[in-house]
Formats: sequence, structure tokens, C-alpha cells
Amino acid sequence: MRALVLTLLCAAHAAAQEPSLFGFKKSPAQDAAAPSSGVIGASPSVAVPEDPEDTSVVISPFRPLKRPEAKETRVFSMARLNRPLAYETTRELQRLFTAFIQQHVQDAAGQELVPAPGPVTTLEYVVQQDLGDGRLLVKANWVASGDGLLPAATEAYAVLMPEKPKAVGDKGQSVVTGVGMVSVRFTPTFAPLAGRRLTLRREAFIECSLIPETVASQQKFMDLVKSGAELSVITAEKFPCKACGGLGFTREAQKGKLDDKRIPCTSCESGKVTVRIETKFTP
Ligand SMILES: [Zn+2]
Repeated sequence: MRALVLTLLCAAHAAAQEPSLFGFKKSPAQDAAAPSSGVIGASPSVAVPEDPEDTSVVISPFRPLKRPEAKETRVFSMARLNRPLAYETTRELQRLFTAFIQQHVQDAAGQELVPAPGPVTTLEYVVQQDLGDGRLLVKANWVASGDGLLPAATEAYAVLMPEKPKAVGDKGQSVVTGVGMVSVRFTPTFAPLAGRRLTLRREAFIECSLIPETVASQQKFMDLVKSGAELSVITAEKFPCKACGGLGFTREAQKGKLDDKRIPCTSCESGKVTVRIETKFTP
């Protein structure tokens, strides 16, 4: 038990040094472990009575993002672009670039393209409360992300980390990337929840800059690849099913009947299988 408590304390301490969505505040692991640290053998899970004066904010991960992984990888060589028989065509490049800009964001200077930690969407928000450490509780509307991983929402509370500080009551529209769901323990200061100590489980977002879908932007992307930047994109590709030859069913001869029985194929949907492929771009 003592070893477990120490492990929890060390892990929480290490995590607390990093500025992040979860801030510099004590983590729940520390809160739970603290009362028992002087009493060997005491259970760290004993419920601590609620302190009515406690207005601290505790944000902890609740449901992290799970990105589907690619089953296969392939290489898109810029040098082979539009060569005879090459699959590297201008049209294919445009299709992949459209998918790429939904999975990547650019840094403030617009020089680096980095993988987005989660689905990218546009948030329309009003700041409800400043939770400290650059985190805001907002009421927001957002559209579903292009990759289908984040459903749309209206008038929903969410946690936002903006690039620049914002004040309570500020309205805005921001391109954001979702980073999963967090649990927020806090005391609201706004109606109709004011003064009630609450735990909300909400989507969390980080403000970011979109890569524009323009010719110039695609040219910059190609130049980055040619100069050695390691960039890739994951797409869901459909192929004819091998098990049924792309028919969506298999045939079984019936004794005494002219027509074969058709058995739906269990390996595909209407003769097609979907494979998630990571395409790596090379010079
Ligand atoms: Zn099939």
C-alpha cells in the first residue's frame, strides 16, 4: 500500500510540472493520497468531506481520444508525380492533401505542419468562466469534424485553451482541435449554476490554425516534403473483397435446383472492404 501511495505521489508530482490542459493544480491522485501519506496502511480511497470554502478547479482526463490506426502503409513519391503508370497523379495528390489538412494544423508562424492531436472543427463560443492556467469554460456550438470522430453540438459547455487570453463574456469563433473529454471539478460563477460545487464531463479543445486549402498552401506542403519533412496522412480506402470476388455474396449449388443459393459475404459490405492506409510522402 505504501509503495502504491508513493508511486501515485511521484506520478502526480511529475505530471504537475508540465503546463497543460490539466494545469499546475494538484491532480486528483495527489488529493486522494495526501490525507493518508502520514498514516501507513490507510486507504487512499477514503472520501474526503466536501469543504464548502473550496473553490479550486481540478481538471482531469475522462475519456481520451482513440484514433483508429492504419492497417497498411504506402509511399507517395513526389519524384514520380504524373509519371506513366504511377499512382502518384495530381488528382490523387489533391485528394490526399484534402485529407491531410483535416488531420494537421500549423504553428503560429505558419512554417511547421504538425499532426492535430484530435478532430479539427470550428467552435463558436461565449466565455462563461476563467478556470485559470489559460483554460476557459465556454458555451459553444460546433460542427462535426470532417473525419467523423467528433459529433456536432449546440449550446454545449466545453473547456477551451485559447492561443490568446480572453475575458468572461467574450464571444468568438475559433478553429480548434478536440483533445478528448475531461472531468472538471469547479464552482460555477455564472447563472443558473452559480455557487454549486459541480463536476462536469465535457469535451476539451485547443485553439489552432488551419492549413488553408489553396494552391499556394499545397505547393508549400510539396516543398516541405521535398526538403525532407516527414509528413503522412491516414485515409480509409475501399477495395474489392477477395473472399467473394467483389460480389458481396458467395454461391452454393442447390441439389435439384437450377439457381444457386446466394450467401451474403461476412467479410465485406456489398463487395467492398475498407482499409485504413497511412500514406507517407517522400521527395
Ligand atoms: Zn466479400
